[in-house]
Amino acid sequence: MTPEEFRAAAHELVDWIADYRASVSDRPVRSEVAPGWVRDQLAGPPPESPVSLDTLMGDLSSVVVPGVTQTQSPGYYAWFPSNAALESVLGDIAASGLGALGITWQSAPALTEVEEVVTDWLRELCGLSDDWHGAIHDTASTACLVAMLVARERATGLSEDRGGLQAEASPLVVYASTQAHSSVPKAVLLAGYGRDNLRLVPVDPVTLAMDPEALRRLMAEDVAAGRRPAAVVASLGTTGTTAFDPVTEIASIAAQHGAWVHVDAAMAGAAMMLPECRPLFAGVEGADSFGWNPHKWMGTILDCSLLYVRDVQLLVRVLSTNPSYLRAATDGEVTQFKDWGIPLGRRFRSLKLWFHLRLAGAESIRARLRRDRANAQWLAGQVAGEPDWEVCAPVLLQTVCVRHVPPDMDSQALEKHQQEWAERVNATGRAFVTPALVEGRWVVRLSIGAEPTERADVAALWDLCRDAAQGVAPLG
Ligand SMILES: *Cc1c(COP(=O)(O)O)cnc(C)c1O
Repeated sequence: MTPEEFRAAAHELVDWIADYRASVSDRPVRSEVAPGWVRDQLAGPPPESPVSLDTLMGDLSSVVVPGVTQTQSPGYYAWFPSNAALESVLGDIAASGLGALGITWQSAPALTEVEEVVTDWLRELCGLSDDWHGAIHDTASTACLVAMLVARERATGLSEDRGGLQAEASPLVVYASTQAHSSVPKAVLLAGYGRDNLRLVPVDPVTLAMDPEALRRLMAEDVAAGRRPAAVVASLGTTGTTAFDPVTEIASIAAQHGAWVHVDAAMAGAAMMLPECRPLFAGVEGADSFGWNPHKWMGTILDCSLLYVRDVQLLVRVLSTNPSYLRAATDGEVTQFKDWGIPLGRRFRSLKLWFHLRLAGAESIRARLRRDRANAQWLAGQVAGEPDWEVCAPVLLQTVCVRHVPPDMDSQALEKHQQEWAERVNATGRAFVTPALVEGRWVVRLSIGAEPTERADVAALWDLCRDAAQGVAPLG
C-alpha cells in the first residue's frame, strides 16, 4: 500500500469509526453471537489475492461489530469501565503510523522521553511524590508480575545471580487479601513462589478490605515456621466491590519483616486524580511499587497500565540485559525502558496518553470521574430506599453492588435469583451487568463509568433491574 492509497483508505476507516461510535447505543450491549459464529463467517482458505477495502469493511460491520461487546455504550456496566476516549484513539493511530521500534533509547529517543513526560504528568496529577518513577506496561497483570520478581530478588539478595529460588534455604511467602484480583495469584505463581507460599488474608466482613491483624498473625506464623515474608499486595479498589485495603497499616507490618509492598489500584487509580478521593489512597507513599490502569476508568484506550517504583536501581538490576548490539554511547545518560519490564520491543504507548491528556485536558477527565461517582451515589440511594433491595458494600467510587432479597425466598433460592435477574437484564441488550460471588454470596455489580453514561442512563438501568428482579421480562 502506498502512502496515497493509505490516505484514501484511512479516511474511510476514520469515517467508519466515527459512525460506529455515534451509533453504539443502538446496538445490544452484550455481544449476542454464539460460540464459533464469527469463525464460521470468516474461515476459508487464506487470502492469496487482495480483496477490496469495501469487502473488508463490509465484514467488519456485519461480522466483527456484532462479535464485540459494546464497552463504549452508555448501557455498559459490566466488569469495569473499559473506555477508549477518542483523543487516545488518535494517539494510538499516530503510534501505529509512526511504526517506531522501541527497544532502546537510541531506537526511538522520543518513545522513551514522551513516556517519561506522561508518567511524570500522571504522577503529579495523582498527587504522588517525585520519589516515584513510572513506566507504561501492557496490563496490571504484567506490572504485578514485575513487582513480584523484584520483591523476590530483594528478599533473596539477588538469587537470580546464583541458583535462583531453587537454591534458597527457606521459602518466601507472599500475602494478598481473599479479594485480590486473579492476576495477583497468577503473578505469584509465575514468579516462582509456589501456591503453598501464597497467603490469602481474610477481609473485614463489612468493608471487604484486608484485615491487618490477620496479616500480622499470618506473617508471625510464617516466621515462626522458618519461612520469610517477601511481599504483600495491597488492593486499592478490589475487583468485586472496590474495597480499599489499609495500606498504612499493611506497610508498617510489612516493614517489620522487610517485605515488599505492591499496591494494585488497576481500576481505582484514576480516582487519585480527584483530591477528594486521595484519603482512600493514604499510605501509598509507604509502598515499594504502585500500579494502575489508565485504560480502565480514566479512559485511555487499552492497553495502557502504569507501574511506579521507588527503587529504580534495583528494578533495573533485576531486569536488565546488555547484549553487545544494544549498547550505545549514550548508555548511562538515558532511560532504557527495556530494563524496567519484561519485553524488549515496546510500542509507542505513551502517545495515546499524551494525546488523551493534551486534547481532553485533565479537568475534563476529573469532571467525568466526578459525574460517575455522583451517579453511583444516586443509584446507591435509590437501591437503599427500595424495599427488598440491598447495597452490599460501601460505594466509594463508581461500583454499586446490589442484591434483590424478596422476604419469601430461602437462602439458596436467593443466590440463584441474583444470577437470574442479572441475566434477564443482560438478555434485553439494553444494559450489561456482572454478577459476582463475594465472600460466598452472589451480588450484582453495577459498574458505572462508561464515557457516554449519564444520569438518565443510570435511571433507566435501575428501572430495568427492578423489572428484571420482579420477573417481568423486559422487551429487548
Ligand atoms: C482489572 C484489574 C486487574 C487486571 O488488569 P489487567 O490490566 O487486565 O491485567 C488487576 N487488579 C485489579 C484490582 C483490577 O481491577
